[in-house]
Amino acid sequence: DKEKRSGDRIYKEACDVIAGGVSRNTVFRRPHPYYAASASGCYVTDIEGVSRIDFANNMASLIHGHAHPEINKAVTEQLQRGTAYTMATTPEIAFAQLLNKRIPSFEKIRFVNSGTEAVMTLIKAARAYTGREKIAKAEGAYHGSYDYAEVSQTSNPSNWGDPDQPNSVPVANATPQSVLDNVVVYPYNDLERTLAILDNHAGDIACVLVDPVPHRVGLFPGTQKFIAGLYDWTRENGALLAFDEVVTLRVNYGGAQADYPDKPDLTATGKIIGGGFPVGAVAGRSDVMRVLDPRESRLLFPHSGTFSANPVTMTAGYAAMSLFDEKAVERINDLAGMAVGQINEAVSVADVPVSVTGAGSMFRIHLKESSPESYREAYQPAEETALIKELLDYLYMQEQIMMINTCTCMLSTAITEDEIVRLSEAMLNGFRH
Ligand code: PMP
Repeated sequence: DKEKRSGDRIYKEACDVIAGGVSRNTVFRRPHPYYAASASGCYVTDIEGVSRIDFANNMASLIHGHAHPEINKAVTEQLQRGTAYTMATTPEIAFAQLLNKRIPSFEKIRFVNSGTEAVMTLIKAARAYTGREKIAKAEGAYHGSYDYAEVSQTSNPSNWGDPDQPNSVPVANATPQSVLDNVVVYPYNDLERTLAILDNHAGDIACVLVDPVPHRVGLFPGTQKFIAGLYDWTRENGALLAFDEVVTLRVNYGGAQADYPDKPDLTATGKIIGGGFPVGAVAGRSDVMRVLDPRESRLLFPHSGTFSANPVTMTAGYAAMSLFDEKAVERINDLAGMAVGQINEAVSVADVPVSVTGAGSMFRIHLKESSPESYREAYQPAEETALIKELLDYLYMQEQIMMINTCTCMLSTAITEDEIVRLSEAMLNGFRH
C-alpha cells in the first residue's frame, strides 16, 4: 500500500546517510519508522495524513502538547533577535528565578542541553563537592547515556546477580571496568538490602542517585520509608542525595520531590522545562553548586556548553512552566486518575491479567495480574514484551493512539476527557483483540 511504500522509500534514503536510519532508537520501528508531518495540541499527523492522539508527547517532554500558541509566540519573538550568542542573556535569569522560586530545594541552578547532560553534570558536581568517585544508582533505572549513569539501566536476568548485591552491568560494549567498579547498584524500594549494599561502600560514595518514580523500574513511586532511609544514610555518611527528576518534575507543582519531607541536595531535570526544545538543568544546594562557580579561587568543576541556556530554550521553557501552574498540574493529574480508573474497569470487563502503576500525570500498563513493586517483579520476559508490542501496534494502527513503548502514557495539558474516554475504550478493544 501507499503508506508502506512511501515509508519504505524514505527509510531507505535515511539508511544511506544515518546509522540505522534514525538518530534516536526511540523512534525506530520495523519495517520502518513513521514520519511525522505536523502536530497540534494532543494530535500528531504523519506524512500519510493519519492523525493520532498523542499520549507520548516526545517522551514526556511536551507538557502542553504540540505547537502551543503562547509558546510559539514567545519563541518566534526571540528568534527574530537571534538564537545564541557568545554572551550571557537575561531570559536565562528570569527562568532560573521562576524555577528556583517554584522548587524549594533549588537554591542555585545551571542549564544544560539534555537530561543526559543534566545527570552527568550532577554526578560530576557531587564528585567535585565530596571528593569521592563512586555513585549509587538503582537497578534498572534509566538516567540517560553518561557512562556511569547507564550502568544496569536494563539487563538480561542472567546478568542481574544476587539480589543482595546486584551486578554493575554495562550497556555499551567495552565500557571501562573502572566505570563499573565506581557504580554501586541497589534494588529500588528495598531499603534493608540497599542500606547493606551502601554500607559496603560508605566513605566512597559521592551521591545516591534516585528517580522518585522510575519509569523503567516499573513507574511506581519510591516509598516514604525508602526515600527517608536514603536521606538518612546520606546524612550519616557524608554523601549527597541526588534526584533524577528529568521526567518526574511534572508530578506536582514542586516536582515529585514535593511528596517527600526530606529534600534532595541536588536535582537533575529536563524534558518539560524546555517548552519543546532541548534542555536539561541541575539545581540544588548553594554550597554544593559553588563547585561550578568560576569566581572561586579553586574551581573544582569547570563547566560550559555551547548551547547551554540558549535564549530560545529559556524563552520556551519560561512560557511552558508559567502555563503549567498549580491548576494545570492538578487538572492533568485528575485526568490521569480518571484514565487509570477507566482502564482498570476495562481490565475487569475484559478479565485480563493487567495492572496499572504511575504517579501524577503518568501511568504505565503492565501485563501482570498485580502491580509490580520492584524492578525484578516488573521485568518483562520476551513473551510479555511481544504481547505489549502487539497491544501498542493495535492501538497505533487501529485506534490511532500513540503511547510510549513501555505501554506508558505521559499526559499533556492539551488532553481532554474526550481523549481519555477514547483511550480507555481503545484499551478495552485492545485487551479483547
Ligand atoms: N533521566 C531520565 C529519568 C529519563 O527518562 C531520561 C530520558 N528519557 C534521561 C534522564 C535522559 O534525558 P535526555 O533524553 O534528555 O538526555
